[in-house]
Amino acid sequence: MVSVQSKKLEIPLVEELMIPAEKVAHVQIGNPLDHALLVLVKTGYSAVPVVDKLYKFKGTISKTIILEETLGLEQFELNRLNDMTVNEVVDTSVPCLHRNDTMIDALHKLIDHPFICVMNDEGEFDGIITRRTILKQFSKHYHETLKRV
Ligand code: AMP
Repeated sequence: MVSVQSKKLEIPLVEELMIPAEKVAHVQIGNPLDHALLVLVKTGYSAVPVVDKLYKFKGTISKTIILEETLGLEQFELNRLNDMTVNEVVDTSVPCLHRNDTMIDALHKLIDHPFICVMNDEGEFDGIITRRTILKQFSKHYHETLKRV
């Protein structure tokens, strides 16, 4: 926690709030796209992290990106999914966080993304932090503050 003395506000660190990597559904950069779509459909998530064989963080992949990629001139060409790999459509432009960043750093990045990936100093995937987690923290803080008034 980082303490803001004047207001007695304790700001949690990302490592205290993140969902650890072992509990996060993810795909590997070399996986075929049909496998990635299967993971997304089965988990119900719209996007998941992408890692390489060494578990280095590479970006995210979403249902939208896969569907856009398979849309032909008039119809979806789902047979293309076997011929393509995650590598061809991974979104590498997503922001990321480190364990020692604060909840406020996460908050800023979560304005534009439903979840942000966390990396360690070696660039390995460490987990994710979600909008839901941050909203729960603010809700808790709000109710605790109201009780004191
Ligand atoms: P939430 O704020 O809990 O709705 O999560 C936002 C997004 O984070 C989801 O739509 C997923 O893309 C991602 N996410 C949340 N939990 C997981 C998980 N355990 N594994 C993979 N992705 C997740």
